[in-house]
Amino acid sequence: MITRQFGIPVTSPGAILRRESDLGTPLGLETAETTQHGGLVSDKIIVQLIEDWLRLHGASGFVFDGFPRTLPQAESLLSILKRLHTALDLAIWLEVSEQTVRDRISGRLQCGGCGFTTSASSAKFAERPICPYCDGPLVRRTDDEAEVLQTRLQEFNTKTQPLANFYEKMSILHRIDGNRDRDVVFGDISQLIEQKATA
Ligand code: AMP
Repeated sequence: MITRQFGIPVTSPGAILRRESDLGTPLGLETAETTQHGGLVSDKIIVQLIEDWLRLHGASGFVFDGFPRTLPQAESLLSILKRLHTALDLAIWLEVSEQTVRDRISGRLQCGGCGFTTSASSAKFAERPICPYCDGPLVRRTDDEAEVLQTRLQEFNTKTQPLANFYEKMSILHRIDGNRDRDVVFGDISQLIEQKATA
């Protein structure tokens, strides 16, 4: 949605790793076990992915989805951006209850082609699970199963939660209530991006 509205390229290590795994590349094979079980992939691998991506696509703005997820990743990102003479404008913290996470994940469908995400209950896709953007198959993520979700939540609570403090101290953290409808949440995110663009 951000790329479509603002033309800012977005990347997500999770999406990259799923693609690598589907293609059976060495990186995909190396990380599949960890991602399937809901653990976090090593900081070294993730930071390298982001650094490579930034060099290729980050010249005129970027959004990371699902990165950083640990303090070492956040610190590495600052060093990389310093080298590139680029500032970090916003850290958007989507606050969602555990119930919201469970509800959304239990019905989540994702496009195997472009990563577009929707829900199984969406009547539009119920009979024909095909991506409206690229005609790819809309499928459930294997790591959305309940037991794996438990591990992912634990990883979040122990390793990712401290990042709120980290970015709060840098005065770039913006908390948004993510329990509301997708369009309302996106409206708030858009407002933040617009404010930054005109500042
Ligand atoms: P996501 O698509 O963001 O939910 O990520 C799916 C999976 O990819 C995660 O459960 C992790 O195994 C891995 N992953 C994605 N982003 C990161 C990250 N920043 N650090 C470590 N592992 C990650």
